[in-house]
Amino acid sequence: MTFCLECEKLPCVRLRTLDKRYRTKYNMSMIENLETIKTFGIRKFVKNEKVRWTCLKCGGIICVHRGFCFSCGEQS
Ligand SMILES: [Zn+2]
Repeated sequence: MTFCLECEKLPCVRLRTLDKRYRTKYNMSMIENLETIKTFGIRKFVKNEKVRWTCLKCGGIICVHRGFCFSCGEQS
């Protein structure tokens, strides 16, 4: 991700394709994430992500690709 940020072609075609796939399939946007990092910095981004992908039930990690908690199986 940091690599993409350093790219002058951002958002490049490859990233846009990936972004579209992620938005449809996983309900998240790579480009949006990068914009957040650019605006607020990586620390704020990580903090947000941590909240977003933490299971409300057990505090485990929610799998971004499957939408459920690794620890207890709770749907996000
Ligand atoms: Zn859980």
